[in-house]
Amino acid sequence: MAEVIYGSEIAADIKADLKQQIAELNKRNERLPRLVVILIGNHAASLSYVKGKERACHEIGMENELIQLSEDTQESELLALIDKLNQDAAVDGILVQLPLPEHINESRVLYAISPEKDVDGFHPYNIGRMMMGKPTFLPCTPKGIMEVLKRISMKELSGKHAVVIGRSNIVGKPIAQLLLAANATVTITHSKTANIKEITKMADILIVAVGKPRMVDGSWIKEGAVVIDVGVNRDENNKLCGDVDFASAESKAAYITPVPKGIGPMTIAMLMSNTLDAYFAHQKSAQG
Ligand code: NAP
Repeated sequence: MAEVIYGSEIAADIKADLKQQIAELNKRNERLPRLVVILIGNHAASLSYVKGKERACHEIGMENELIQLSEDTQESELLALIDKLNQDAAVDGILVQLPLPEHINESRVLYAISPEKDVDGFHPYNIGRMMMGKPTFLPCTPKGIMEVLKRISMKELSGKHAVVIGRSNIVGKPIAQLLLAANATVTITHSKTANIKEITKMADILIVAVGKPRMVDGSWIKEGAVVIDVGVNRDENNKLCGDVDFASAESKAAYITPVPKGIGPMTIAMLMSNTLDAYFAHQKSAQG
């Protein structure tokens, strides 16, 4: 039976550490780190993600502001707001909750955020730095997955075969890059991959980021593999579930992350960590 790796517990440790760092700043009467989240419209899932981020900020003592704009907000208004926040010395991190309404160009919005305040790690400048292995804000979900793998034992990644299912810009592609940088041999699979099961069965580390409830069952998994389930879905009974069929996967894998309490809480902890990093970089450059 696999050992279940609760991201929620690792995330709690990380947040406790961040909370202590912020308490130290508070004690010294210093300016506190500040995250601004922009939400357009009332998309239920987005609203719940934004609330989760707000809760995490409160938990660790980070200042935060939620700017909620109506669904019919014009792109030019959003860009003007981002520009104002870019210039605001009291703001360390800016996050625009995705997806955006169709009339707003997502790329233009993500490019508009100053790379120094891009705590989601979605700006092409930061993505380029990540590809080159330079220090940067890493996208939160892939960063959280790497943190989980580190806890299992990072040294075991070297030379291992990692298979990623999914090639999105926010999960699949960046996690493949981070695994490569950690000396894994990486295969990226997607909806057009032929004989996908034959490939996943070769994986020492299997990262599943698809968005299909319980698509990957035990028959896709090599005995003793590490299985990371990124998916957040609702099943036919409206119950939260991952992309992996936990019951059958658990008997094949050596380590597995559950849904909920797996990668989701890690994503939020990494957002907090990126914002604190942005704050320290910001303070350093302000002091010259
Ligand atoms: P996405 O942009 O929709 O990408 C899904 C990927 O899965 C695509 O590359 C797609 O291939 C691939 N795919 C779809 N059907 C497939 C199939 N039958 N076989 C193999 N590959 C298939 O999704 P995403 O943003 O990466 O998110 C993936 C999941 O992770 C979702 O459930 C999302 O809610 C969740 N998520 C969770 C967190 C977290 O914090 N826990 C963060 C982000 C996302 P093509 O490219 O060929 O279409």
